[in-house]
Amino acid sequence: MQSTWLPKALCDEMEKLIRRFIWGSSTEKNGIHLVKWEELQRTVDNGGLGLKSLCQHNQAFLMKIGFQTNPEKFWVQVLRSKYGWEDPLPLSIKRTSASRLWRGLNEVWDMVKDSICWNNRDGRSTDFWYDNWLDGKGQLVYACTANANPSPVSVSAMVDEAGDWDWCRLSSWLPKDTLERIAAVMPPRLGLGDDRSGWRWEDNRKFTTRSAYAALSVEPVANDSLYWRQIWKLPVPQRIRVFVWLVFHRRLLTNDERARRHLTSSDRCSICNNGTETMDHVLRLCPSVRQVWESVIALEKLSLFVSLPFDNWLLQCLNMSMALEKLHRSTWSCPEWGWLKVNCDGAVNSHDKAAAIGGVVRDSTGTWQFGFSRSIGRCSIIMAELWAVLDSLRHSWDLGYRCLRLETDNLEATEIINSTSSAFEDSLLLHDIKGFMSRDWRVQLRHIPRSENSVADKLARMSMGAPIGETLFARPPLKVIPLLEKDLINIVP
Ligand SMILES: [Zn+2]
Repeated sequence: MQSTWLPKALCDEMEKLIRRFIWGSSTEKNGIHLVKWEELQRTVDNGGLGLKSLCQHNQAFLMKIGFQTNPEKFWVQVLRSKYGWEDPLPLSIKRTSASRLWRGLNEVWDMVKDSICWNNRDGRSTDFWYDNWLDGKGQLVYACTANANPSPVSVSAMVDEAGDWDWCRLSSWLPKDTLERIAAVMPPRLGLGDDRSGWRWEDNRKFTTRSAYAALSVEPVANDSLYWRQIWKLPVPQRIRVFVWLVFHRRLLTNDERARRHLTSSDRCSICNNGTETMDHVLRLCPSVRQVWESVIALEKLSLFVSLPFDNWLLQCLNMSMALEKLHRSTWSCPEWGWLKVNCDGAVNSHDKAAAIGGVVRDSTGTWQFGFSRSIGRCSIIMAELWAVLDSLRHSWDLGYRCLRLETDNLEATEIINSTSSAFEDSLLLHDIKGFMSRDWRVQLRHIPRSENSVADKLARMSMGAPIGETLFARPPLKVIPLLEKDLINIVP
């Protein structure tokens, strides 16, 4: 499956076996398929079980091989010489007779080509209009407003003498939202070596089968992802989570549902014999269940509890479990004497990707030293988090702070910066962050829970949707004062 193209009929047959297994079918009996196969194949955030479409999974594996055709590898050299492949990214690799592997590659080659995205270093070999390089959203030629077919030009040619993007020229060709996406990318610089090819569907430009699969299977964006995720985090045995998941799909096999499927002639509740056995009846209204609720819900709230519309009631039950979790959240703490603490955060609007960052510096008594808030354009959350770290380091260095505890609530950003491995290694942003961290000062970067980072989060959100630009705060802005006070309340003097 990882190196051979599988025919669709074969994939369909295997998926049928998986379906039968999930719903307990065997040679003797047929299980009841409560949730559609298409829904089971959705991601967990989207209400599914994250089961893969075998056909698309097969393609994703082949894309991995296609993407990794790095000419330094021996097997790639063999393939290249066998099939006379010279161009790094040929338009077509179709051959009349070829091995299974090659035929598989040919099936996904168009998708592989479309999935390459360039990481700018010196920006000389990447074409500004016709190569994918900007946040994986496709070629810029489609966004050009001035000319249908602009002539090819390198990305490095779009940088002015001061090293910033040449906004004068760019703004005459591109719409505002594209300019804002460019603003969030660091301009290429001479002397940093050749541009490097990367994987378009991951922010760090590294290939993952997961992202290749996601690119192939376009799913509608779920508005209710929060509660689907919450279900699988409930601190209960797995079979109860599965039960709750079925409840949220409205797919419990009650007598009402069984009668609808002609599995029984009566839709009555067999325990109380007092009404149709719907999900609402089973979970909330049946007298035998009422006894359970009466023992956990205060008497004065009980009538509201049973009278809420069923959908609202379900969500409220789930929210109660979330609220219990919140009670155990941790709180901000002051750094030791002689140290300063910087909290930083990035925020991105999930609709239009408008991104902003913020940061705050406090001393060992929790007193405000400095803060900033900046609208950076449009980018992914991980890029925004990295910008927040970089700006925090830059400001702190310029202000002469030399013992710094830097905190962010983004685990991925912390891991990327602290690790020596490859993720984001081609990013100029990471290059500059590591440059700052290796200077002659003491900086410790740490990941903290979001509940400890509320001030930085607020500062970032203050610039959300504002024109690109930065605001510096020598004194705390009014909007964050309640949050600062809240952080201090929790500290024992
Ligand atoms: Zn009943």
